[in-house]
Amino acid sequence: MNSSAIKNVVIAGGGTAGWMAAAALGKLLGKNLNITLVESDLIPTVGVGEATIPSLHIFHDLLKIKESDVMKATNATFKLGISFENWRDVNQDYIHSFGYLGQGCWAAGFQHFWVKGKQQGIVSEIGDYCPEHVASRRGKFAVIPNQDRNYAYHLDAGLYAKFLRGMAEEYGVKRVEGKINQVNVNEANGFIQSIALDNSKVIEGDLFIDCTGFKGLLIEQALHTGYEDWSHWLPCDSAIAVQTKIHNKTVPYTRSIAHKAGWQWQIPLQNRMGNGVVFCSKHLSDEDAKELLLNNIEGELLNEPRVIKFKTGTRRKHWNKNCVAVGLSSGFIEPLESTSIHLIQQSIIRLMQNLPSKNMEQANIDDFNNKMRFEIDNIRDFIVLHYHVTQRTDSAFWRYCKNMEIPESLQQRINFFIENGNAYRTERELFGETSWIQVMIGQGLMPKYYHQIVDMMSDAELKGFLDNIKMTIERRVNSFPDHNEFIKNYCQSSVM
Ligand code: FAD
Repeated sequence: MNSSAIKNVVIAGGGTAGWMAAAALGKLLGKNLNITLVESDLIPTVGVGEATIPSLHIFHDLLKIKESDVMKATNATFKLGISFENWRDVNQDYIHSFGYLGQGCWAAGFQHFWVKGKQQGIVSEIGDYCPEHVASRRGKFAVIPNQDRNYAYHLDAGLYAKFLRGMAEEYGVKRVEGKINQVNVNEANGFIQSIALDNSKVIEGDLFIDCTGFKGLLIEQALHTGYEDWSHWLPCDSAIAVQTKIHNKTVPYTRSIAHKAGWQWQIPLQNRMGNGVVFCSKHLSDEDAKELLLNNIEGELLNEPRVIKFKTGTRRKHWNKNCVAVGLSSGFIEPLESTSIHLIQQSIIRLMQNLPSKNMEQANIDDFNNKMRFEIDNIRDFIVLHYHVTQRTDSAFWRYCKNMEIPESLQQRINFFIENGNAYRTERELFGETSWIQVMIGQGLMPKYYHQIVDMMSDAELKGFLDNIKMTIERRVNSFPDHNEFIKNYCQSSVM
């Protein structure tokens, strides 16, 4: 073996980020590494982060995790998208679903056909031309073998970490209990040498993965990497979370309900509902936010409401010296499109692809940082879109969002869509055209023109084309079982 190959990897923190990193490194590279994860039972994890996006399949496939096993272990339900209620305006809603829209042609996407249909008054909402959207509205779900898996999960974050911990330990990851109270940095080169725990243990490493959450104990407190603040674009800075008993059937989507200074989430698991409000403290106090939340949830409370403070933004470098920040230590965009777990998995996979030697090659570090930054900037733009393109003017918060300056890159996308009806996805970008289109139309943007190729069809042909897509989807979705029935047969947890 190469004598400069890294040997000792230390993961600081055991939340979702820490255990995802431990399970992946343990399973995929563990034979040649000594991996130690340090966590403290005295320091709780953030305790939220229960909605995922379909890219999680990639992570589970890599780790050979069977879907029904992880769902059973985490009381998971299926998620086909997010219902955005009161976002465009009060009492107006739409769904951003994970599926594809209708059928386009070589020159123009489906939205062009739909826009002409809308001008002629022969279409219903654009989501009706997407199977995942229709299945969400009907509460239906099926896993269809050999088809795109355009769905994700709602899962219990604590149980997910426990599930991954079991895997990681099986693959040789050593867990050390203890509170990190010092990070020792080599003065000569600025690299982290070791971390010292309150029980006097000292753990040395070649590579350190900082999964200590918002505080960024290694990446920030020890290495002073710096943080880029995005709160002028994403002004929500607080959340209150609480869990309730669930009595009704669970829906296969997350609910995001806008309120006068932010939004409220509802994330259904098999055994409980995760609820919370995200809000801007300049416009709503913690007390008022708590009251708002408690007045808008159903079912008995299972825990005390908990306030979480955050600052949206990104660490200036996610990989600095011999330390890689994964999870909340690397920054936080905000949970609106459930993208944090996705970014955790991207960091872990990219780190494994760019695994350095003990020399910590700068080319590996730069490539990692550039790719992470590119992806995060794109996700940021997508989230800002939801806040900025709104017709709401009923509160100071929404007036601010509607009138704020937005990133140039987002303004270009908006202009492009209005001017020619197109959306685009650049390489390595998370959200595809159908996501941008659903949210842009859902928030109230409408292209000025449709592509001329649509006029190659007569009016009657266009109507037949659109009706046929809708009917085929209806028929297909009608054959799916009810979401709850499907779960019962596929992955019901033992705590039901
Ligand atoms: P944490 O969960 O905070 O874990 C930190 C770990 O570090 C803990 O194990 C702790 O014990 C340990 N630690 C800290 N200090 C020390 C120390 N001194 N010594 C030893 N150990 C220490 N993401 C999604 O993908 N979907 C969502 O729906 C979603 N919703 C969210 C809602 C809110 C309101 C917030 C704030 C976040 C949400 N996220 C969501 C993000 C998600 O919660 C996180 O990305 C995920 O939980 C990972 O957190 P983490 O592991 O980085 O940090």
